[in-house]
Amino acid sequence: MDLALQTSGSEAAAPVGLRFDNRLARLAESYYARVAPMPLPQPRLAHFNAETAALLDFDPACAQRAQFLETMAGQRIPAGAEPIATVYAGHQFGVYVPRLGDGRAILLGQVRNARGELWDVQLKGAGRTPFSRFGDGRAVLRSTIREYLAGEAMHALRIPSTRGLCVIASSEPVQRETLETAAILCRLAPCHLRFGHFEYFYHLGRPDLLAPLADHVIDEYFPQLSGQPDRYRHWIAEVIARNARLVAQWMAAGFVHGVMNTDNCSVLGLTLDYGPYGFIDRFDAHKVFNHTDETGRYAYDRQPSVMHWNCTRFVQTCLPLLADAEDEAAAIASELIDGFGPAFTQAMLPAWRAKLGLCDAHGDDSELISRFLRLLHQARADFARSFRLLGEVRRGDAAPPRLRSAIAAIPGFDAWLADYRARIEAEGCDDAARAARMNAVNPRYVLRTHLAQRAIERAQQGDFCELDRLLQLLRRPFDEQPEFEEYAAPAPPDADEVALSCSS
Ligand code: AMP
Ligand code: MG
Repeated sequence: MDLALQTSGSEAAAPVGLRFDNRLARLAESYYARVAPMPLPQPRLAHFNAETAALLDFDPACAQRAQFLETMAGQRIPAGAEPIATVYAGHQFGVYVPRLGDGRAILLGQVRNARGELWDVQLKGAGRTPFSRFGDGRAVLRSTIREYLAGEAMHALRIPSTRGLCVIASSEPVQRETLETAAILCRLAPCHLRFGHFEYFYHLGRPDLLAPLADHVIDEYFPQLSGQPDRYRHWIAEVIARNARLVAQWMAAGFVHGVMNTDNCSVLGLTLDYGPYGFIDRFDAHKVFNHTDETGRYAYDRQPSVMHWNCTRFVQTCLPLLADAEDEAAAIASELIDGFGPAFTQAMLPAWRAKLGLCDAHGDDSELISRFLRLLHQARADFARSFRLLGEVRRGDAAPPRLRSAIAAIPGFDAWLADYRARIEAEGCDDAARAARMNAVNPRYVLRTHLAQRAIERAQQGDFCELDRLLQLLRRPFDEQPEFEEYAAPAPPDADEVALSCSS
């Protein structure tokens, strides 16, 4: 159905061209609560994303209309939308929390685009729901901008992620560690369902509610499995493989999620729920971005094992889908979870090889890669810049001076470089071709914490130009953009002082 925005009185209905097809709201009400967004006062369109609008077949010209702003600010419900908040649970920092749910994110509706794809249109920060617990249902402008930037930056790095349609700023005060203002992120994803949705029904003792939800996901997002007798097993294998590949991509990008709770893990293998995330500047393999994570549970180098642990929790909740007999289900589950390691390695090794510009696979590649990462760690060298500069290594020459200064005077660097050079010489590939390949996977520009912070501080003063500039830059992270040269510089020494927490 092509539906128009609902308007009051005699006002003409302004079509927004969003074709709602609310599949999730067709499921039983055990999965969600019907809710109404809490209007945001004095809303302002801080940013609109024409690129993601295209995913919804949404005409960017409509974004200038008052109805659009009112809809995104939760002030009006467009015709055809059926706002709901879904219920889920999750393991937070390893501890099972039986009931979480969308405490501030409201699914306005699902839109079917002309290509037949279903997209969730979600308003994050749109007010209290039955799952808000002690929260106020709001999101602050700071975290909204951080999530918006991250989704677009990850997408440009070819890392699966939720996206953003727009950011709405407002004057509503919100208390966090300091007094801030409320905002809404219109978040888009084919589906926001998490491991936690399945954990909720399993631990509630309602295994009968697992299959309809799994079938919804399979029918919509894994249609090749739809109706197959062994569909759950294949679907779970795919969820595990996607999340294994996702975490490999995070590692290769120097990305730290910061809160890898099972309620933040997507059944589509998307990066989901950006809170205290970060792209590492000075490389520290144990880097933690969340200052409330005192044990470093979600440190950079722990991410693969945490994702494995999370997938194990997920498979456990799916036991009733696998077989009637418990021992048979357990045997299948164990086989499924054994798929994580190979899927991770099959994604991780080629990703590192590509970052080093290597075409062939050698048995000692892991060692070459680990040694380079150890050097970066010891030197606290800038992660992105060091990989980018490696592309300047020429066969036969001395180390390029910029690379040498990036990885300053670390014992072992020359020996490593000699081995690396021997390796690229053995491949015999042209230097320029290798550099071009490396520049296509090692970004020149990264969403560094201090760059996001600068855009946030300007936005908090009502100036959204820096946000726009940063988004433009990050859309082409691999291309040299001389006009943005200063954005490629390593972080200033005081950059670590931006405190990131779950408080958002
Ligand atoms: P997060 O740490 O953002 O992944 O959120 C964990 C849980 O807390 C989810 O159920 C959220 O919906 C909920 N939550 C976080 N912040 C708020 C808030 N300000 N108001 C209501 N619920 C919230
Ligand atoms: Mg979350």
